[in-house]
Amino acid sequence: MVLGVAILLVIGMAAFVAAPLLAPESPGEGALPIDITPLTDLKRRRMVVYENLQDLDFEFKAGKISPEDYQALRENHLAEAAQLMLASQEQEEVTENDVLIERQVAARRAQRKQQPHDPYTCPGCGFENPLPVKFCGNCGTKLPQQAPK
Ligand SMILES: [Zn+2]
Repeated sequence: MVLGVAILLVIGMAAFVAAPLLAPESPGEGALPIDITPLTDLKRRRMVVYENLQDLDFEFKAGKISPEDYQALRENHLAEAAQLMLASQEQEEVTENDVLIERQVAARRAQRKQQPHDPYTCPGCGFENPLPVKFCGNCGTKLPQQAPK
């Protein structure tokens, strides 16, 4: 009985000690810099490349590296910078497209709310028949007849 209590105490202590280590997983989202997007990461890497370029210039001027090495390393850095720049541009386009798609989806939803009983929309598959038809052009389900206007 005493042993059981002691074991419980040890388990309790262990949980108490481990709790702060496990805690950031669930509520503490702000503990980690979650605003690091692929874009900011690319920009950060570009900054590092430019810093390396400056270091390289400095070392070359200090006579620590040969002109051949300097040229080769410089070209490497510049190529990397160009690549990162390109990747950033692609990343920016992706985010722009995402925003565009989100807007289109929102507009569509708003439209659907305005006219919930579109007679040409198939109740079976959701296909929007472009013409007043009796059967869905996509799956063949019989469409509800529209009221004559
Ligand atoms: Zn259908």
